[in-house]
Amino acid sequence: MNFKQITVAGSGVLGSQIAFQTAYKGFHVTVYDINDEALAKAKERMAELKSHYVADLQASEADLKAAYDRITYNSDLAQAVANADLIIEAIPEVVSIKTDFYKKLSQLAPAKMIFATNSSTLLPSQFAEATGRPGQFLALHFANEIWKNNTAEIMKHPGTDNQVFEDVVAFAKAIGMVALPLQKEQPGYILNSLLVPLLEAAQQLLVREIADVETIDKTWMVATGAPLGPFAILDVVGINTAYNIGLAKAKATGNEEFERIAELLKSEYIDKGKLGRATGEGFYKY
Ligand code: NAD
Repeated sequence: MNFKQITVAGSGVLGSQIAFQTAYKGFHVTVYDINDEALAKAKERMAELKSHYVADLQASEADLKAAYDRITYNSDLAQAVANADLIIEAIPEVVSIKTDFYKKLSQLAPAKMIFATNSSTLLPSQFAEATGRPGQFLALHFANEIWKNNTAEIMKHPGTDNQVFEDVVAFAKAIGMVALPLQKEQPGYILNSLLVPLLEAAQQLLVREIADVETIDKTWMVATGAPLGPFAILDVVGINTAYNIGLAKAKATGNEEFERIAELLKSEYIDKGKLGRATGEGFYKY
């Protein structure tokens, strides 16, 4: 791995975190977004990250300043990628937006450049052709609050070059991530392949009135040694997200149990402003 210059495309929730973490670990970073207004917002997001690095990582003023100094901003895609070894794409989770972006990028990017998508739910094979360089394309998936939830799931699609995969694994480690390589495509990567069924099963036990929230969580925690039970995890994820997933599953499967789960989350939690940890109350009070 010989990466020096990294471009992050999309500077929203995740893009700004990826850009800052990468700069904090010594790489030169160019942030690309659609216009100057989006880039102004990115600078605000970046400034807000400072307090987290101080509180959670005891980052020094000098290290933070050096990180900010390594970041540049550009709304011209050709200029933003002119010198880049790697681009990490964190633009909206919309197939047409990502496809158009990769088509445009394929015309502008230097031949050496590797493309990585941070998509949570879309498989890289879906965009491989649009990139024009399938061998140099893969997924590099981070978690929200990257500086402390420091997982990086690195996932091949069937055409990804092995050396590219190894280089991106090495890069993930170099920016302070615990690198988690996936040798084949898997919707939901490793984490959500494990977590989604657990959270679903917990909600099914609840709507079937088998046991209450506390008992279900206690069972999981005491029996496995886990620090949080599924409902406490749902409070971290946010009840709105859980509701949207439940609703989508109800529509996709026609299973009325998922409808009951969505109804319960809406009437007992969302409508009462109990959205999880972020609002101070969900299944538990914080
Ligand atoms: P977001 O909405 O916060 O940010 C998206 C950014 O992309 C915005 O700054 C927007 O201006 C910019 N954008 C829109 N169209 C663009 C284009 N054509 N070219 C370049 N930039 C464009 O979104 P987010 O939550 O940061 O998610 C971005 C990606 O990261 C998605 O693929 C998502 O699945 C993934 N992801 C999100 C999370 C999360 O917790 N939010 C976690 C892991 C992965």
